[in-house]
Amino acid sequence: MYTDSHCHPENKRFDSDRPEIFARAKAAGVTTLLAIGNGDGPGSGTFDCAIKLAEQFDGVYATVGIHPHEAALAKQGDFDELLELARHPKVVAWGEIGLDYYYDHSPREVQQSVFLQQMELARAAKLPIVIHCRPSDNSTNAWDDTLSLLRENWASSGLGGVMHCFGGTVDHARASLDIGFVISFAGNITFPKAQNIRDAATVVPDDRMFLETDSPYLAPGPYRGKRNEPAFVTEVAKRVAELRGVSSEEIGHQTSANFRAFFRIKPAESQ
Ligand SMILES: [Zn+2]
Ligand SMILES: [Zn+2]
Repeated sequence: MYTDSHCHPENKRFDSDRPEIFARAKAAGVTTLLAIGNGDGPGSGTFDCAIKLAEQFDGVYATVGIHPHEAALAKQGDFDELLELARHPKVVAWGEIGLDYYYDHSPREVQQSVFLQQMELARAAKLPIVIHCRPSDNSTNAWDDTLSLLRENWASSGLGGVMHCFGGTVDHARASLDIGFVISFAGNITFPKAQNIRDAATVVPDDRMFLETDSPYLAPGPYRGKRNEPAFVTEVAKRVAELRGVSSEEIGHQTSANFRAFFRIKPAESQ
């Protein structure tokens, strides 16, 4: 049994075969999925995209939030709408939110203020947050800012969160664990240059780890360059299992149990 803790099944690249994607995930033993609800961002009318899928498919849970890429488009009305949507029973986290200094699609100071505003909303909604953190090349800038903003503005909430598609160092993993975060590993752990991620995967405690695909993006090793899908989380499990000297099934079972415990999901709810 496996859990994909972060995917984008509403993405247009799944429009032609979405039900098959969910069926293939189930057939591969991927029984639980967290659908990320950023959609096409503010003004697009798609903030409920993950909720719609969670209502339609068993074992699918949802988030709401504004991605740092689209931070510059955010208006007050968007925050009000998100807070309302966050009350849906299948919304288990706020995200993905954070800082992306690699693409810089929105100015950094705007990304920071929208990140801060959403931390306040998540606190009001009593939801953990899903963090997207991507620094510039050969820099730790987004990590430095993300961790300091979280320490000052989020750690005291006690709600914790998920470092999605973890791409930092062992030190970044430890700093994240220290403030109540879970580390989620994705297909980039299979990439030849990602030794930092493989190192981190050997130090994270068993009960503080998730697996994800970030599909349709970031296909793991054997599928690199192709469209990714939730079923391929088994490839991430395989790599993490090798690194930790256990079986893929064990990693799948452990990370699924971690997911249910963190989001307080009863086993009977995820079929
Ligand atoms: Zn992301
Ligand atoms: Zn994502």
